[in-house]
Amino acid sequence: MKSENCQRYLEDPEAHAAHLAECAECRTLFGELNDVVANRGVKLEVLPLAPWEEASHRPWPLILGIALGIVAIAAALFAMAGQSPLGGFINVIRNNVPSADLMASILRLAGGAVQNAPGPWQIAVGVAFVIVNAVLFLLLRRSPKGIDV
Ligand SMILES: [Zn+2]
Repeated sequence: MKSENCQRYLEDPEAHAAHLAECAECRTLFGELNDVVANRGVKLEVLPLAPWEEASHRPWPLILGIALGIVAIAAALFAMAGQSPLGGFINVIRNNVPSADLMASILRLAGGAVQNAPGPWQIAVGVAFVIVNAVLFLLLRRSPKGIDV
């Protein structure tokens, strides 16, 4: 027969640890559970890895190989186009990175647009900032007991 105290203990054993001392039924139940884990032996190394446990494994040789392959293909294409591969790479970088002047004027334009935006827009951006950060804060909280592993 389970009392209300037993129910509360089962839901949150850490917060109601004192219940274990006064209730023989729960003591028996949890003693058996501990015996199973300790003696009959759950062999952790035999269990398959959960997806998040193997997430640290990265096939770096494969990634490096693919990156080197892409560089080799690019060098071959530069050579076919009649450019030296190294000069080709340098030209590509020089032609695609915008000049400091251009970056500065873009930043000035964006800054002016933000300052001159209509009031409701500025308020909406402020409200959205608070909402997004509230959502992120809620996501940061620890998951409730019993759900985390
Ligand atoms: Zn109990």
